[in-house]
Amino acid sequence: MARRSPRRARRPKRHPYRVVAFLVVTALLAGATAVATYRYQDRRPAQVAVRVQATGLDRWVHIDQGEPVAAALLAAGALGHDGRLLSAKDHKVLDPRLDPAVLTVDGKRVDPASVPVARDVVAIVDGTDRVEGTEVVQVDVPPPPMDDVLAHVYERGRPGRRQDVVGVRSREVVSSTLVRPPLAPKRTAAKVVALTFDDGPSATWTPQVLAVLKAKHVHATFCEIGQQVAASPELTKAVVAGGHQLCNHTLGHDEGLKGAPQATLDEQIGGGAAAFTDHGLPAPAYYRPPGGFLDDAIKATVKANKEQTLYWKVDTEDWRAGANTLSILRHILDQVDDGAIILMHDGGGSKRQATIDALGIAIDHLRADGYRFTFPIIGPQPPA
Ligand SMILES: [Zn+2]
Repeated sequence: MARRSPRRARRPKRHPYRVVAFLVVTALLAGATAVATYRYQDRRPAQVAVRVQATGLDRWVHIDQGEPVAAALLAAGALGHDGRLLSAKDHKVLDPRLDPAVLTVDGKRVDPASVPVARDVVAIVDGTDRVEGTEVVQVDVPPPPMDDVLAHVYERGRPGRRQDVVGVRSREVVSSTLVRPPLAPKRTAAKVVALTFDDGPSATWTPQVLAVLKAKHVHATFCEIGQQVAASPELTKAVVAGGHQLCNHTLGHDEGLKGAPQATLDEQIGGGAAAFTDHGLPAPAYYRPPGGFLDDAIKATVKANKEQTLYWKVDTEDWRAGANTLSILRHILDQVDDGAIILMHDGGGSKRQATIDALGIAIDHLRADGYRFTFPIIGPQPPA
């Protein structure tokens, strides 16, 4: 018992230690909590709740304090969209920001970078897409091309007319209406013939041919050699003055153009045409191949020079040594048909007297048969 008493007496002395221990532990815990809280707040700033309104959407989202309005829109999954200008047919975007989306906070327009505060109402109103306007335009529809090589008189085609509805900005064709179909060129069914004279101009024969044609009121086509045109342009000027048409018969009557290199074709065909224009004469509308020799490259070169290749239906063979008035007339009567292109010569030799003698008689005879004299291409055709 004696030992117990002192123990009891000492008890109150132990009390301060337990209080200190409790205070220390509490202080440590509080400190740890404070540090943890401080660190937590360092990583995750305070958040603000804002209300986002967009097309088909109205919800509250939380964003970090200090983040912009754009972050609230992103959190709500509603970035809005700008109204675009679209093309009339394919709806291609012509202008992506024709009508930009409008962003407001509490009813006031703001920049996406502005910072909202808690309970702000962030609203985005989409822009409206618009389709460009249209207009009606008239478009010529070209006729199909003429045959490459003409042996008969052809009537020119005529362009058709189309009415297109097109986008004013994109020029896309929305719809197309054929108002009038094009007319294809075609061999004439009219009772006509076209006289053509090759290998001139000749100081001896061309004026005589012109005199006969003038007396008979006939217009013809002259396929002239460029070098001769250049040597005597006044002869060709007389041809033009007589109301006749010109045809390119190459620069130097080159009969070897089949398979020739392009440079040779350009020199002979382009050079033949230049002989006219270089002397103030009209560009020839036609091309006649010397000797009748043609291939695709020649035809393409002629086309590129905007000339029409002429062949012939009737070869009068006035170029043959034994030709005379009767032989020429016989060839014409044997071969002539409606629209026939007739080949004669006002140059290329010293004996064209037979041509001069036969010409007037042939004209009279053909005319008596009902033929009229035209150029190789006539028209336009009357509307269908
Ligand atoms: Zn010739």
